Amino acid sequence: ARINGLVPGVTWGEVQRQLQRTGHTFWRPSLSEKRQAVRRPEGLEGSVPAGKKIYYRDVHLPDVLVFRPMGQSCVDDVNLFDEGALVFQQKASMFPALALEPAPGAQVIDACAAPGSKTSQMAAMMKNEGTIFAFDRDGRRLRTMMNLLKQRHVTCVEACEKDFLQSSPEDARYRNVTHFLLDPSCSSSGMTAQPISDDLAVKQLAENQKKVILHAMRFPACERIAYSTCSIYEEENEKVVQHVLQDQLGAHFELEATLPWWPRRGSPKFEEVASRCVRSSWEDQTIGFFCALFVKEEPSVRDRV
Ligand code: SAM
Repeated sequence: ARINGLVPGVTWGEVQRQLQRTGHTFWRPSLSEKRQAVRRPEGLEGSVPAGKKIYYRDVHLPDVLVFRPMGQSCVDDVNLFDEGALVFQQKASMFPALALEPAPGAQVIDACAAPGSKTSQMAAMMKNEGTIFAFDRDGRRLRTMMNLLKQRHVTCVEACEKDFLQSSPEDARYRNVTHFLLDPSCSSSGMTAQPISDDLAVKQLAENQKKVILHAMRFPACERIAYSTCSIYEEENEKVVQHVLQDQLGAHFELEATLPWWPRRGSPKFEEVASRCVRSSWEDQTIGFFCALFVKEEPSVRDRV
């Protein structure tokens, strides 16, 4: 669970006090346990003491609390979730916003936003300052997102019920948008431990994924693009990244070595991109996930004169 700093009065101390009242015990690993765990994608798992209602701070993401034993019954009585002060979010699904790093005041497009987990995470990073244009082509999902954002005290979002591919890069509203979070529909093969592959569907999904990235690259102020899927297939991940970099538009962008502290990188089959992308799997106590970060190249001196 992520601590949501947008809810008034929510501090780490207050969260601890409330969890103590519901009988939750905070576990603090030793320094050597932490040092070893940070190098492993599964983190502190394996060192956690057995017992009821234990929680600890994630070794890679300290604003994230891990509750053990896993499952709803461990947090049933925690009101902080109803108040939006604690937010359920898979650890790996926090990677794209962390890679993108929108600061307070940023202008952001979240092109495939509903139901809004990453939108609300970015709003918290931005302290509700700046604007997130949150697109989704599915109106019902977008309305679910609006309710969720309200519960989480998010006030910096402009929702757009629209296919992002139909948005115009010339539109004055998006003139200053520098950060793009692209989390398009995917096979969701990382959500289940035993995924079923449908080659045709994966191909079609990959086509939309490529189009969405290339479209973001057309926006005049675009500086950073975080691309992600909860898919384990190379077709939707490394192959999409490679395709985009070979495109004329992609040639103006570099693939940044994102989240260097995360040990599991892209598929080694794709030598040129593998080490710069991140992956996660069920073995890491989270879902199968992929994330890459494109950064616009600085114009060369020759281009500027
Ligand atoms: N980012 C969301 C979150 O963190 O909660 C999850 C997004 S979900 C994986 C993909 C969403 O993208 C769906 O709601 C789908 O309707 C939307 N979508 C896919 N392609 C799109 C496009 N071209 N324009 C707008 N929305 C799109």
